[in-house]
Parts: sequence; C-alpha cells; structure tokens
Amino acid sequence: MRKVRVVVLAGDGIGPEVIEQATRAVDTVAPEAGLDITWQPELMGGCSIDAHGTALTDAVLDTCRSADAVLLGAVGGPKWDTTDPNAPRPEEGLLGLRAGLELFANLRPVKPLEALYDASPLRRERITGTDLLVVRELTGGIYFGKRGRTGDTAFDTCTYSRDEIARLAEVGFRAAAGRRGRVTSVDKANVLESSRLWREVVMEVATGFPEVTLNHMLVDNAAMQLCSRPAEFDVIITENMFGDILSDEAAMISGSIGLLPSASLGAGSNGLYEPVHGSAPDIAGRGWANPMATVLSAAMMLRHSLDAADAADRLEAAVERTLADGARGRDLGGEMGSAEIGDRLVAALG
Ligand code: NAD
Repeated sequence: MRKVRVVVLAGDGIGPEVIEQATRAVDTVAPEAGLDITWQPELMGGCSIDAHGTALTDAVLDTCRSADAVLLGAVGGPKWDTTDPNAPRPEEGLLGLRAGLELFANLRPVKPLEALYDASPLRRERITGTDLLVVRELTGGIYFGKRGRTGDTAFDTCTYSRDEIARLAEVGFRAAAGRRGRVTSVDKANVLESSRLWREVVMEVATGFPEVTLNHMLVDNAAMQLCSRPAEFDVIITENMFGDILSDEAAMISGSIGLLPSASLGAGSNGLYEPVHGSAPDIAGRGWANPMATVLSAAMMLRHSLDAADAADRLEAAVERTLADGARGRDLGGEMGSAEIGDRLVAALG
C-alpha cells in the first residue's frame, strides 16, 4: 500500500457536511487503488478565525505544504462578514493558501451529465457531448498588476512574464495529452501586448507536445463559442481575468452549482481541491448539501496529486450512475440530503 497524507480543511457552513461524504467515498475506492490515506483535519476560514484570530495559521500552511494534497470544503458565512477593514476574513485563508502553495493553475472541468441535460440553460442538442476543461492562470495578470488612481482616473495593469505563461501552458498541454488532445488558447492578441506574448510562448510550449493540436481564439469569440458550440472544446488555456469570466460561463452549462469541482495546481504534485460552491449558510447544519461537487473534486485529487486515475474514474462514474438513477439533491429540485446521496454513491461504488 502507498501511504499518502491529505490535509482536510472542512471549513465553515456546509463544508464539514460535504467533506464527510467525500472522504467516505474516497475511502471506499482507496484500498483497490493501493492507497493508504491519512486524512489530517485542520482549521481554515471562519473556524480558524474563531480559534486563532486568523483564517490561516502559519502552522496549517506548513502542514499543507508538506502534504500530498489538500481537500477543502468551503469557507465563510455571515458570522464573519464585516465592513471593518482590519478584521480578519475567511477568504484570506484561501488567498494565503494559493500564494503559500504557489498554486498558479486553476482547473475547472465542465461535463454536463446526460441525466441533467434538461437542467442546463442551453438546449440539449447544443450541450450533447460537452466535456471541456478550463485551465486558468491564477496568480498573475491584471488582478496582481500595478493599479492606482489619480484624480478622476484609475488604472490596472496586466503583466505577464514568459515563465508565468509557459508553466500554465504546460499544465494545459499535459492535461490535453491525457484527454482528446486539443488545446484552445484564449487571448486578445489583436489588441493586447500581453496577449501577443501569451500567444508566442504558448506556440513555443506546443512544440514539446506534438500529439496535441493547438488553436488560438480571441476571448470575445470564445465567449460566443462556449454558448453556441461547447462540445467543440477540449482544453481551454487562458490568463487570469479571461479565465475568471469564461470558467463561470462554462460552469453554467452544467446547470447546477452542487456538481462543479475544481483543482488548483502548482509546480509539484501537491494541489488544492475544492467544490466551486461556497459555504451555503442558508442550508448549513440541515444535512441538505449536495456533496457531489466535493466528491468530484476528490476525484480530481486522486488523478492529479495521488496518481490514482482509475480510482478517480470510479468516483466520477459513481456520480454519473447515481444521477442517472434519479438521485437529486435540493440544488437540483430533489429531496435527498448529504448522507443519503453519500449512501447512494457508496452503493454505486460497490
Ligand atoms: P454559495 O455557493 O455558498 O450558495 C449559493 C446558493 O447555492 C445557495 O442557495 C446555496 O444553498 C446553494 N448551494 C451551494 N452549494 C450547494 C450544495 N452543495 N448543495 C445544495 N445547495 C448548494 O454562494 P454564496 O451564498 O454567494 O456564498 C455563501 C458564503 O460562501 C459566503 O460567505 C461566501 O463568501 C462563501 N464562498 C466561499 C467559497 C469558497 O470557500 N471557495 C466560494 C464561494 C463563496
């Protein structure tokens, strides 16, 4: 058995409820994958503010750095919402983790399941066959550039270096090599100099992946194509702000927030895995949260950090089968709670 250590940051609100079912599902597939997983629970977010006065302690960050992977529920809630600029905020823990683990690539797969085609705002014939992955640059670009105000004028700058672009592109090409072998690089190279450098570097990286086809698309066109022909995409690679917008647009294709996983990766094999949804304070503590997005995030963890792709496939297939059999959480208009969905998933894995 291969021993691995996963730090579990259940967080706030529905975080602990979805994490409980996700670790249970992973424990069901781990033995066959030859994995001996130690789950190490730690505090991050509002719960850490309550205990330590800060959303992420240095000790927890160090523990995450030395782990094989980090699985996160969700953080935040009205208890910690404040307008006091000096008060600690739960989201600071997330930003601290991304910076501290140098997680520069955010991966969001979008694969609407046949059983849920009618939950999508797009027509069935448009989404049929859609299986795409948005790889967004997470630590550079306009969100981190120089900004300021003078009088009635404000500015933000978008800066990218060759290295920042190359390492992100490599993540995208590697992912495409294990999928359908197509990368669409999204930029605004007809206007922006940073996009022209982006395009140049992406073409250089592409030479190292002869089995992957590369095409370039302007971001405005990509926004249209995602709605009109989403099934044409395999892997989309793009810079921080374009990725922020396009990944939310692409996410809507699936129709439910309770089903969307994400991964944030750095240079090594360690990564942070979390559902796209938040801590849902409106339903927290009632056992209503759909744990499927967290189960699918744990599947990404098995694939990208724990070298257990077969176990990841099994979890994904179990989610698909459970939905096909009619299991629906409240996010999909059903009645099933977290534990019942967890039971169905474990049964589907059996
Ligand atoms: P949210 O995603 O928490 O909830 C939006 C709506 O979707 C709510 O009605 C909620 O009940 C429902 N929902 C979300 N996940 C669900 C699930 N798994 N099953 C069933 N229903 C689900 O977004 P919000 O209400 O804007 O934010 C609530 C809190 O979460 C805020 O404090 C926000 O800052 C935080 N947040 C955290 C993260 C994160 O931890 N990464 C992400 C987004 C929001």
